[in-house]
Amino acid sequence: MKIICVGRNYVDHIEELKNDKPDEPILFIKPDTSIIQKKQPFFFPHFTNDIHYEVELLVRINKIGKHIQTKFAPKYYDEIGLGIDFTARSLQNELKSKSLPWEKAKSFDGSTLIGDWFSKKEFKNINNINFSLERNGSKVQIGNTNKMLWKIDELISYVSTFFTLKIGDVLFTGTPSGVGNIYKNDNLRGYLERKIAFSINIK
Ligand code: ZN
Repeated sequence: MKIICVGRNYVDHIEELKNDKPDEPILFIKPDTSIIQKKQPFFFPHFTNDIHYEVELLVRINKIGKHIQTKFAPKYYDEIGLGIDFTARSLQNELKSKSLPWEKAKSFDGSTLIGDWFSKKEFKNINNINFSLERNGSKVQIGNTNKMLWKIDELISYVSTFFTLKIGDVLFTGTPSGVGNIYKNDNLRGYLERKIAFSINIK
């Protein structure tokens, strides 16, 4: 399986990192080796102490597809989740400044947290889902899918024009504002509406 991530999909986050608003979704891929095993903590990688959390709404693909039209995209997923796209921020900035690919900063071992999955039937409207991240008990990120520049179904359509989607692939739909550093002994807890989607300790 692969993990397809969308960059800069929330205006408030684009502004906080002083990035330009893209004309089309920005895509990158994380390998399955980046996924943190269930119930495991996040361990700092050897190459940096500068790691940011980015909480993101997730969609799990349940049907193979290519060139999917937006109106048919709902047939390609039935579960919604929440995760963290851990990012080595200073390394990413360095790579960006040299116009180099981001993978070392975004796709390293342990850089992907995938929380619990919930049936999409549990949500009245896919384009109006509240989610949030707490760091040590205080809210640091609050998002709603209605603030996405490209909505879930549009993203699935766009992604599938470049990459064949396969069963089990996971789409990370971008992070809202409030990204920040993690530190040893932190606890990060994610909420999808009122449901706890994950809780992870930083080691
Ligand atoms: Zn991200």
